[in-house]
Formats: sequence, C-alpha cells, structure tokens
Amino acid sequence: MTMCAVERSGAVADYIPELTRVAPDGYGLSLCMHDGHVYSHGDSAASFTIQSIAKALTYAMVLTRLGPREVDRRIGVEPSGEAFNEISVDRARRPKNPMINAGAITAASLLLPQVRDLDDGAVDAAFDELVAFYSACAGRRLTLDEAVYRSEARTGARNRAIAYMLDSFGGMGAEPEAALDLYLRQCSLRVTTDDLAVIGCTLATGGVNPRTGRQVVSPEVAQRVLSVMTTCGMYDGAGDWVSSVGLPAKSGVGGGILAILPGQLGIGVYSPRLDAHGNSVRGIETCRHLSTDLGLHMFNVT
Ligand code: GLU
Repeated sequence: MTMCAVERSGAVADYIPELTRVAPDGYGLSLCMHDGHVYSHGDSAASFTIQSIAKALTYAMVLTRLGPREVDRRIGVEPSGEAFNEISVDRARRPKNPMINAGAITAASLLLPQVRDLDDGAVDAAFDELVAFYSACAGRRLTLDEAVYRSEARTGARNRAIAYMLDSFGGMGAEPEAALDLYLRQCSLRVTTDDLAVIGCTLATGGVNPRTGRQVVSPEVAQRVLSVMTTCGMYDGAGDWVSSVGLPAKSGVGGGILAILPGQLGIGVYSPRLDAHGNSVRGIETCRHLSTDLGLHMFNVT
C-alpha cells in the first residue's frame, strides 16, 4: 500500500476539538481472513475512536434485541444522499437509515429503558452491555476515550438538536439526553485496524467471531447489517463507493473505515485525513486498490 502513503490531501476532523490532536499522517491496515488469521500493515495496533463505524454495531444490537419488524418501525433503510449529520427523516418522520446520526441516535435510544424518568446509572448499564457486545465482535475488551467523549459532549450542539427534534416527533422512547449520551460514548470507543478487521470478519461470516469462535449475532442480523452498510455506509459518497469499491463498508470521522467481503474477510483501515464527505482519503484509496488489485468487488463478474 505504499502508493497510498504519498497521499496527503484532506484534513483531520476539527468539529470535535479533541480529534485535532491526532497525528494526521498515521496509517494502518489490517485484513482478517475467515480462518481468523490477521494480516497487518503500518500502525495496525494504534488505537483511534471508532466514531460512526459504531453505527453498524449498534444497529446489529437493536436488531438482535427487538427484531427487524420493530426496528423498521423506528428507523428506515433508505440511503439519505445527505451528510451524516443532516436532520434527515422520511415522510413518517423516521430517520432514513441507521448509518446517519439521526438513525444512530434513535438506535441508541432503543437500547435504553423506554421510560422518561431514567434511573441514575441506566446509561452506564446500557453502555456496559454495548461495550460487551462490541468487544465480543472485536475479540478483546474495548475501552472509552474519555477525552474525546467529553470533547464531543461539550461541543455536540448539532447532535443534541437532532436528538430533541426526533423526540419532538415522538420517535424516541428514552430521554433524548440519555440517548445522546449513549450515542456519544459509543462513538468514543477506541479500536485498532486489527479490531475493525476482526469485527468485519465476524459480520462477513454470518456473525461468528473468527478468533473466538463465538456466535455474536445471527446470520440474519449480519446479512441485514451488511445490506444497509452497502447502501448507506459511506455517507453521501455511498453510490460512488459501491460502484468503484463494491464492498459493504462504514466510515467514521476518526479516520477509520470498516469494509467487508461477505463470506470472506474483514478489512480495517485507518488514516485520519478526511475528504469533504467525512471519509478517510487514504482509507478510500486503500480500499479501491484492494478491491481492484485483489478482485474483491462483490459484483465481480470479470
Ligand atoms: N461522533 C461523530 C458525530 O456524531 C460521528 C460522526 C462520524 O463519524 O461520521 O458527529
């Protein structure tokens, strides 16, 4: 991937002040094969915040808990064609999909008790369960980046506005502040590209973590998550991504990209300079090369 190393365009996310402290030219790449073997390159053990990649995992969690019918009632599955933080709902006032902030905050709310007067500690309890689930997907215990969490909680006017707007539409059972808090914590979990590759492979192989052998989600849930990642995972760049790379994927403003070849492997890439859509510039380039050079496009018929 040396051809990607010369790429220096894009800029680290600065709307979350703490994210400006990362080294802009860090780069890591990992591939996890279905037998659990992980190939790593660069800073593959350096950790960064998972950010929006978390949306795919929380969606898997709510699908597992509530089943697709109930989740579909609350969150759509249509690409929005809009930015990740757009205040975007469909005619039924449902968030258009779980991969944008509106859908992800709703998904987080569904992991909380559906009452208004939440006990102290309810968000902590939900977060513990969430960390246990993400960790089971990664095959190791993940931890919170307190500084990023606090930084985003202090500056998250946009996400707070989304949470209250959804609440005014009647879309959230839990208190908006609690849903927002859980959402911001999930975004601030630290992962490495090795973790992302294992998480990806877990979804690729029908929900079985290839390192631990544990069934973490059902094949039906894994299939649904991969489908929605395919159409909605790369923000408003999703169409271009599917055409040129052809892998279900999810990016995060921390600079990570999770990409998956169904049935085969998981890919984790990290490089924090982002393009205008909020996707890692080198991460995209890397995935394009992998897809072309190794023939990974899922609709490869050549
Ligand atoms: N925590 C970020 C936010 O809500 C996640 C955005 C992203 O990675 O796309 O703004």
